[in-house]
This record gives sequence, structure tokens and C-alpha cells, in this order.
Amino acid sequence: KNNLHTCLMGREIIYLPETASTQTTAMDMARKGSQEGTLVITGKQTEGHGRLKRLWVSPQGNIYMSLILRPNQNQLSRLIMAASLAVSFAIENTTGLIGELKWPNDILIDGKKVCGMLVENDIRDGQVNFSTVGLGINVNTDMQSYPELKGIATSLINHTGKPVSCEKLIVSFLHEFERLYLGLNEYGECIFEMWRKRLITLGKEVDVTSGKDTYRGIVESVVPDGSLKIRLADGNLVHIVAGDVSLRHA
Ligand code: ATP
Repeated sequence: KNNLHTCLMGREIIYLPETASTQTTAMDMARKGSQEGTLVITGKQTEGHGRLKRLWVSPQGNIYMSLILRPNQNQLSRLIMAASLAVSFAIENTTGLIGELKWPNDILIDGKKVCGMLVENDIRDGQVNFSTVGLGINVNTDMQSYPELKGIATSLINHTGKPVSCEKLIVSFLHEFERLYLGLNEYGECIFEMWRKRLITLGKEVDVTSGKDTYRGIVESVVPDGSLKIRLADGNLVHIVAGDVSLRHA
């Protein structure tokens, strides 16, 4: 904690050697009133999950953490952008590698997932009571040894050739995220522009899955609220919002 010069992010840190899911732990704590900025970190997860209850493979050697936030409307609407940028800046600060942002919330290196993110909101009386930002970052464990992740996942160590300090990466993330999260109150448009510049999904051919339907199109533009406009082969334009769909680069 000595190297952490933040006011909000990580002002309380709960470290658990092992837990089912930091996201579940953080949500329980937030419901019981934990303050904004509380960070739950673990060494390994036994039931880590991504969106739509999909499994997040969580062995020792990587980063699994969840932050409790109580965002206002400005912060809530661009929370994923701020968190994605913060991870990508933190990776760059600690390793020199440039993480590419895949819409809406994955970070890739060489087209493979190095970080997954899950933002969950607790709504009470139509208002956000709290949000939890969960992050899984593949750092020092080679994820290619998991058959289900072959060709899908990568780890920082596969690109640096030497171990990366999880502590340095986390500290850098908390600094970057604090700046961006607080910045959303006044500089939301600028943060959107930074996010858009690192978004590799723009201009790409993609397959979008929504419920049982899948369709292919080209990502034509990204709207300042973070949603995408996709041009289909028949010329129609569809508008997609994170949370509703799953997107694959074709
Ligand atoms: P999609 O790629 O369909 O848009 P998503 O990016 O929202 O989904 P999540 O649901 O957040 O993905 O994450 C779960 C998926 O991520 C799993 O189905 C698996 O393919 C992949 N995955 C699981 N564990 C890891 C890991 N440690 N590193 C990289 N990818 C993983």
C-alpha cells in the first residue's frame, strides 16, 4: 500500500488468498454498506465468471479483483470506457505493451484476450445503488495450456518473456482509474475520444450474437454513449448496446 497514492481507489483493500468470485464477495460487501473505492483482490478464484455466467478461468499467478463504486450518472454512463482505458494504460506503464480494446470490455494483445471485465450494477428505486467493476488480467500464468482457451487467451508473460509484477500493475491501474473515473465528471468527451482511439473494433467485420440470432456486418461508427452502429450486407444499419449482445471479430 506504500506505493499507492490514491484518495478513492483502494482506500480499503481486502485480500483473500482464495475465493469463489471477487465479484460476488464485493457485491455482498457493497450491499452491507462498504464504502466506495473498496477493493477485493484474490490469488485465485474457484468460480470466477464473465458475462452471462460464463466461466472465467482463474488459476494462481494472475490478477482477479473487484472494486466497489457508487457512480453518479456521468460516471455510470462511461464506466466501462474509463475502466478499459485504465487497464490498457496500466499494462503499458508496467510492460510497454499496448493493449487493444475490443468492444465493449475486453483487452487484447495480438488479437487474444489478456483481460476480461465485468461491470454489474445494483439498481434500487430506479437508481444505481452501487456498481462493481470486476477484472481478470492474465499476467504470469500461460493460459494456452487450457484447451478451451487455445487461440482465445494470452498472458502478459507470453509477450514480455519475464514475470510481471502484479502489485505494480494493480497500483498503476488504481492510479489511472482514479484519474479517469473522477475525470468523467468534467471531461467525459475527452475520455470517450481516448477510448475510441484504442478501440480496434471500429471498421472491423464482426459477428453479433443477440439471443439466438447472429448476424454479420461492418462496424461503421461508435456513438459517444459507447454503442455501435453496424452496417449489414443488405445495407441496413443496426444499433447495438453493450450488455445486449456478444461480438466477435470475423
Ligand atoms: P464475448 O467474447 O462472447 O463477447 P465476453 O468478452 O463478454 O464474451 P466474458 O463472458 O466476459 O466474455 O468472459 C467469458 C469468456 O472468456 C469465456 O467464455 C472464455 O471464452 C473466455 N475466458 C475465460 N477465462 C479466460 C481467461 N482467463 N482469459 C481469457 N479468456 C478467458
